[in-house]
Amino acid sequence: MARSTGFGATLPVSGRRVLVVGAGADALGQVVALRDAGAAVTVVAPEAVQSIADLAERGVLQWHSRAYEAADVAGLEAELVVAATGERDLDARVAADAAAVGRWCVVPEVQARKAEATGGSVVLVGGGPGDPGLITVAGMEAVRAADVVVTDRLAPLGVLKDLDVEVIDVGKIPRGRFTPQEEINRILVEQAQAGRRVVRLKGGDNFVFGRGGEEVEACTAAGIPVEVVPGVTSAIAGPALAGIPVTHRGLSQGFTVLSGHVPPGDPRSTLDWAALARSGTDLVLLMAVATLPAITEALIAEGLDPTTPAATVADAALPTQRVVRGDVSSIAARVDEAGIGAPAITVIGLVAGFDPRG
Ligand code: SAH
Repeated sequence: MARSTGFGATLPVSGRRVLVVGAGADALGQVVALRDAGAAVTVVAPEAVQSIADLAERGVLQWHSRAYEAADVAGLEAELVVAATGERDLDARVAADAAAVGRWCVVPEVQARKAEATGGSVVLVGGGPGDPGLITVAGMEAVRAADVVVTDRLAPLGVLKDLDVEVIDVGKIPRGRFTPQEEINRILVEQAQAGRRVVRLKGGDNFVFGRGGEEVEACTAAGIPVEVVPGVTSAIAGPALAGIPVTHRGLSQGFTVLSGHVPPGDPRSTLDWAALARSGTDLVLLMAVATLPAITEALIAEGLDPTTPAATVADAALPTQRVVRGDVSSIAARVDEAGIGAPAITVIGLVAGFDPRG
């Protein structure tokens, strides 16, 4: 029997500085799992996949966009180093540099190779709002069985840590870099045609503003077997995580989930805001940070009581979750003052003022 040369342990990284060398697909699961565990993450790598670049842009982690140098293991003052460059030799060099200055270094091992796929397929998996605990059991099984996972920034990327899967990051960032949907459809079809088990992993549910329907159409048109594993949508989970029930006996008999990506009056908008103002349902707004002032103004102009409670939940299910409360007349200004950016959900309706103590 081979003698074990290691000792497995879960490290309490919360609040600790951790250096990750590498920002490619191999580092993605590691970086997000560290972030989920509350570590202060610094990344060194010349290039980063979109989801890591996005976390850096949002100030969730620090990214030094340059090649790794031996001095980094001590110079960046990390208590722990994770070598995840995707290149064995470089990972080994990082580990040796760390050992030389007495720093712990983890070189993540990937799980044993799985059996060869027998035919290509695509599974659309709804990953939930971001906490790896909120993906479904079926969703997680599909991810584990996959050869390739096509993902983007709102998916619970921490679940990819240590899995033997190729990760293709096609993240879409509001008003930023993005991969057009046609290109994503093409990637799904091509990967499956190459005989691989493909998972399309998205945040929330793929059929709630997730373009899942188009992906099913593209796969079906190409004769690729496609399956759907529903997910926990942020439209319901986001408010719930802030203690807001989207329905509550005596407060609301329904809720309406809306995209606010274009403001009222915009020629691309198909929503009847006057009818929504009178609907008597809670309004749950997605993709509505920049448009919140215009939307709340229109609702009030169409007769919604300006004192109707409202709440915005940003980064729901993530360690950076924040909640801002107010009413429909004040919420936009409060969100702006708090410096809230996407992803965020705004709930308008009596439930937004729900207080379990009565
Ligand atoms: N398919 C997703 C929604 C995609 S649209 C789902 O079912 O949840 C993207 C919008 O979803 C974001 O602009 C934001 O409004 C919302 N969203 C997704 N994840 C979120 C999160 N963790 N916290 C807050 N809002 C989120």
